[in-house]
This record gives sequence, C-alpha cells and structure tokens, in this order.
Amino acid sequence: MRNGSWPDALGAALARIKRRGYGHFAKGTMMALKKLVAGNWKMNGLSSDLAEIKAIADAARDFPAVDVALCVPSILIERAARAVPNFAIGGQDVHFADKGAHTGCVSAQMLQDAGAVLTIVGHSERRDAQRESNDEVRAKAQAALSCGLEVILCVGESLEQRESGDAVKVVERQLDESLPKGDCSHLAIAYEPIWAIGTGKVPTVGDIGEMHVALRQRLIARCGEPGSGVRILYGGSVKGSNAAEIFAVADVDGALVGGASLKAADFIPIVAAAAEAA
Ligand code: PEP
Repeated sequence: MRNGSWPDALGAALARIKRRGYGHFAKGTMMALKKLVAGNWKMNGLSSDLAEIKAIADAARDFPAVDVALCVPSILIERAARAVPNFAIGGQDVHFADKGAHTGCVSAQMLQDAGAVLTIVGHSERRDAQRESNDEVRAKAQAALSCGLEVILCVGESLEQRESGDAVKVVERQLDESLPKGDCSHLAIAYEPIWAIGTGKVPTVGDIGEMHVALRQRLIARCGEPGSGVRILYGGSVKGSNAAEIFAVADVDGALVGGASLKAADFIPIVAAAAEAA
C-alpha cells in the first residue's frame, strides 16, 4: 500500500484516472472520440505477471491521448490495482445480482471493491460457453453501470452469419437487446466478430466500417445524441501490425485486444497506433 488506507488510495486513483480523461465517453458529436484500447487477459495471469501489468501501465503513460485499460481475471484485480494505482484495471464479467446465492460469481460491487473501474460484459466466449442471453447481458451491464463501473459491452456475429450476409442484422439486434436503458455515457461497445477472435483472421476494413456505422446509427436511435459519444471498439486479432489500418476506419474508437494484450511488447504498439490515429 502506498499512502493512507486502501479506500483512500483507491479514491485517489479513481480521481486521477477521471482527471486524465478516462470515462469521459460523451464527447462532441462530429469530433473524433478519444480512443480506448482495452486488453482482455481472459483466463491468463498469475502473481508473476504483475510485473507485465506494471510494464504495460508504465509504457501507456507515454500515450495520454489514448485511454488504456486491462481487464484481468477477477482474482488478480486487487493486486493489479494496487500495483498500478493510476491505471484502469477492469473485470471480464459481472453478475447481474447485487449479492446472494450465486456460487462462484462476482458482483459489480465486489469488482469495484477490489479496485476495478470497468468491466467487460457479453463477451462471445461467455455468450457461448455460459449460454448468456442478450437479456442477461443487459442486466449485467445495468448492474455494473448502477454501481459506477464503466462497461464494455460486446457484440459480434458468427462465421455462418457473416457468410450468409446477416452479420449487420444479427449484430444490430444483439445491440438492441443487450443495451441497458438510460444514460449511455459510461458505456463502450466492442464489435467482435466471433470468427476473428484468436484466429488471426480480420474482417476487411470495409466490413468493419459498415458494422461500426450501423452500430453508431443504432446507438443514436436508442440513446439520442449521446449515442454519438459512445465509443465503438473493434476486437478480433488486433495486433501492432494491423492496428493502424483498423483505427483509420470511421467510427472505430479503439480496440478490445485479447492475445496481444498479454505482453507490453505486443500491446503497446497497438496503443501507439491509437495515439497516432488520434
Ligand atoms: C477478445 O477475446 O476479446 C479478443 C479480441 O481476442 P484476440 O485479440 O486474441 O482475437
């Protein structure tokens, strides 16, 4: 622990993160939004990886034009948040209930209590393996937002849906049904085609652009003008070598990064590309 009690240290860290611009999701309508590059560590990371988290946080400080976050396994959140108090640490999922008989689950308040400032919800690996429905994802997003966490809500189509020409329709529907009601200023959307996650395959920039524009229109239809300030991230095999091309696409306001977020050497070039595109 650095100075003062743990809650004091956390409060100070949150204040610093807010001052730095993290969480200012609602920006001017036609202006480019501040890019957000978030890493999803999935089920990777032990105490011995805290040094890598620190390396990422230290290097990210060189790119103040970009918001950078790491979503780590819930059991690592508290140690990571203590190790890098000025840096946004998040969870990868949250339960929709406040508390109760939900063995093995983690509530929004627990994430926050551990030091998280954001969480992912609706990742396709959970929608698939845990059979999470759009209703459940919406309830999770709602619970996290109500608790004061920033939320990255994931949507994306399967290869079959892409190949049958239904991708935009499917993803728009997913968004409509997963989007929490009310204020969207602490929300980001991650468009992650399922077939691009961890495969090295990436949609064409034309397909990414088409989807992001469609999502932007749905966000504005649902949230009104504040929908133009919701960041829409692309996720799926983003690397240092393809990030610049992806960030150049209209309405791509950052990236959700899996495999390439585990090492500073792979992740920071993506952050640098986002800074370059800012
Ligand atoms: C992800 O799982 O959110 C993801 C985008 O993974 P990857 O970057 O490894 O494709």
